[in-house]
Amino acid sequence: MVFALPSLNALAGSGLGAACLGGTGFMAWAVRGRSSQVFGSSVWRGSTSRRALALTFDDGPGEDTPRLLEILDRHRVPATFFQIGLNVKRLPGVARAVSEAGHAIGNHSYSHPMFCNPRLGFPPRRRIEEELRLAQEAITEHTGRVPVWFRAPYGVRWFGLGPALRSLGLTGIMWSVIGYDWKRTGVGGNEAAQAIAARVSRKISSGAILCFHDGRELRVKPDIVVTLEAVRRLVPLLLDQGYQFERLENLLCPKN
Ligand SMILES: [Zn+2]
Repeated sequence: MVFALPSLNALAGSGLGAACLGGTGFMAWAVRGRSSQVFGSSVWRGSTSRRALALTFDDGPGEDTPRLLEILDRHRVPATFFQIGLNVKRLPGVARAVSEAGHAIGNHSYSHPMFCNPRLGFPPRRRIEEELRLAQEAITEHTGRVPVWFRAPYGVRWFGLGPALRSLGLTGIMWSVIGYDWKRTGVGGNEAAQAIAARVSRKISSGAILCFHDGRELRVKPDIVVTLEAVRRLVPLLLDQGYQFERLENLLCPKN
């Protein structure tokens, strides 16, 4: 199906942004649907032919990201971290430690805005491209890696994202299964972590891209205890089920 982009562009300045999250039908899917290509490339799973999956973490680096690195290292499991540019500048040593541990680094914007928010300012293309470019620069400077993957904040894609992705050589990534781990704090953490691990493990199949969070947007010292506990439980469970964990480049391009 080919979508009529010119008519969508005509809608861009019509106040649609405020309604983008609550909308229904075509626009809601275009903005947030994991398979929507309306606002740029979007990959949400790998091949189903191999028993492999990719762990991804958004919103880092955070002060407790090193604790997550320890858990992954214990099981020799690689992951992909979608880092926020401002968090990288706040914790450059942690950002570098993620890269040096052998994980892939993706771009999760510079300041984590909701791209469809009218207050972001127009033209959105210039603002969105700046968000991606500044994050790209911060990540490259502090980790030595040039990201090739991008995950939109809140999973929200908008006008101007597609050209921005193309100009920076980025591919948009969504997810197959999301943890909803950011909704919970350490209070009642074990129970919440158990519920997250159980729900995620039920939904997984070969080629899945899992989405968790080692930060909480731009929060300083984010509470990620529930995320840590959920990952601590989930990884050995999935290894026992015969899954192999891969960085995104290996899951999506097995010849890498
Ligand atoms: Zn995020």
